[in-house]
Amino acid sequence: MIRFAAIVIVLIFAVIGYWFADPARAKNVAGVFDNLINQTADIEQDVFEFQALEAINERRQQLNLAALSTAPEIQDALARFGASQRNLADTRLKDLFANLQSEFPGAQYLSATVLLDPRDDGLFKSIAKWEDAGNPQYATLSTLAFRDGLRKGCIAVLARQLPPFDLEAANREGGRFFQRCPHCGSAHAVMLDRKSQTLILACPDCQKPYDVLAADTHEQFRRATDFLEGFRLPGIASTPTPNEDSMLAIWSAVLRHCRYEYDNTSMKRGEAWKKPSETWKDAAGDCEDTSILLADALASAGIESRVAVGWNIHIGQHAWCVAKIGNQQWVLESTLQLKADQTPELRTVADAAEEYQPEQLFDRQHLYFRNDGKERAGCDDYWADSRWETMSVDR
Ligand SMILES: [Zn+2]
Repeated sequence: MIRFAAIVIVLIFAVIGYWFADPARAKNVAGVFDNLINQTADIEQDVFEFQALEAINERRQQLNLAALSTAPEIQDALARFGASQRNLADTRLKDLFANLQSEFPGAQYLSATVLLDPRDDGLFKSIAKWEDAGNPQYATLSTLAFRDGLRKGCIAVLARQLPPFDLEAANREGGRFFQRCPHCGSAHAVMLDRKSQTLILACPDCQKPYDVLAADTHEQFRRATDFLEGFRLPGIASTPTPNEDSMLAIWSAVLRHCRYEYDNTSMKRGEAWKKPSETWKDAAGDCEDTSILLADALASAGIESRVAVGWNIHIGQHAWCVAKIGNQQWVLESTLQLKADQTPELRTVADAAEEYQPEQLFDRQHLYFRNDGKERAGCDDYWADSRWETMSVDR
């Protein structure tokens, strides 16, 4: 029995000797005891985060991947999430994802894990060994360290946020972008559909449209407002006080000069919108080309004008021009075929309301979306704030 106890004691000393023979290991064991004694000690999150980042970036360097950086907003959200949890070691990743996705809808790529280890460097090793640490699609690492009895634990989150929507970048690189709805503030991903000619961007949450984009003749998407370039009709002198005669003169000049390029459907897919100077040079265009030319030429002459996109009960999908002088508003159809000495007949928007059913309007500065809740319905006022919600385009 004594011999047995002696063997056990020798073995215990051998184990202790083994641990403390290596100073690094000794420090770890000391760390375990330290944790045991002082479980509530504050963890220096900044230091932990920095070390975790170093560990993960060392691995990424070996894999030839770009280094991750910190994401202070996600870090803060993680701290708030941590404060709301009773036991972080039992964190359900599903809850964490739901939380992060509601706070960062633009963080398109997210990965999270909970790791536990008695030693700090064991945790860093686990983070570096984490399969997703070697995934090139992530850009940031956020960590939340905590104590769990004898062990230390951490929640690690990898993320990549989508870049904010930018028409130039979308044209250049394509891909997905982050967009915040100007109506309800909800965030969502946007992608340009290259097969489309006209894109009405609408919010998936409140369903309201907020942008009108169209492909130009160089296959680049532009905002509808950008097609109005300040074009002046040659040979049309501007009058100091715009009146019906000057409006009629501009309308007639556009109708006489431009041949209608006929499509079976006037808003054919895959077809580009032209700028006014291009339509004028070609002396031809379809409904949106000539409406844009007419609206731009009217604006240059000081007459309030807008391009309307919507539905015509005879034609189907259509675009037309509307003009306003004083309290009077007219629908100016830009695809009429005039006989040599014929002058087009003026129609007020009220008279044309049954035939023309506008959905969106635009001029040089703004887009306008129907806010009277009506679809496929005429409109007797293309300028009333009660019918149209104005969207500024300098976003
Ligand atoms: Zn919305």
